[in-house]
Amino acid sequence: MTESVVMSDGQNNTDPSLLTSSEPSPFYVVNPLAESPVLLVCDHASCRFPQALGDMGLDPFARRCHLAIDIGAGKLTEKIAKSLGFTAVIAQYSRLVIDCNRQLMDPGAFLEYGDGILVPGNRNLTQADKDARADAIYWPYHNAVEDQITRLRAVVPAPAFISIHSFTPVLNGVSRDVQMGVLWDTDSRLSDIFIEDFRAAGFLTGDNEPYSGKAPQDFTIDHHAEEIGLPHVGIEVRQDLIDDIAGVEEIAPVLQSIIESIPVRIGLSQDKIPA
Ligand SMILES: [Zn+2]
Repeated sequence: MTESVVMSDGQNNTDPSLLTSSEPSPFYVVNPLAESPVLLVCDHASCRFPQALGDMGLDPFARRCHLAIDIGAGKLTEKIAKSLGFTAVIAQYSRLVIDCNRQLMDPGAFLEYGDGILVPGNRNLTQADKDARADAIYWPYHNAVEDQITRLRAVVPAPAFISIHSFTPVLNGVSRDVQMGVLWDTDSRLSDIFIEDFRAAGFLTGDNEPYSGKAPQDFTIDHHAEEIGLPHVGIEVRQDLIDDIAGVEEIAPVLQSIIESIPVRIGLSQDKIPA
């Protein structure tokens, strides 16, 4: 850990029944005081389960597969944020515990089955079970994102919001050729830039592929960025490009050069807003 990484207040979890004081906090923030007007977030960065949930009935393969974690996405986000000196909020528990990129009432928030894998630990959950996970992980993560947006809005009125994910090269037996996915809905300010630059760099780039930003599943962007008009985009990197350190080292500079250029290209002013 470097000085640029600040842990949340994980020693004082309010829900000791799910996370003990010895377990990592639900998120960490890279460069929590940076004033560059871009916020990176990574919802699916970890395959960690709270100790109280054991292995959730999954074998070692399933616990580390693409259902549990966006392989490489957390390392990629951290690398970009550190290299650029930008802020990033990175989740520290598996999406199988609770998916921070879904509305809580979405069945996918507590996934019971996906890509041929049953998740026993998510069967027959009570509302109390769901609430405990939301209180311990989901809301602390989203509150941290909200706090960073509020802080950056004191620097510029509308900081850019970039959500980084990765996707499996094969889903339900079907191969996916797209290497970079750019997800957007009604605001194309950032997606236009990423699509143009990824293609110029030679990547097979999906415009709302392999997932669409128009689908209701991207809660993080909808909730934090779209509702208040922040320029935003979802980036999906195919996992085989970043599933080891060498891959992350190769892909990070591609995203860094695009992300670094965004404030100027979309006219974000860093003039302070009068108090
Ligand atoms: Zn994801």
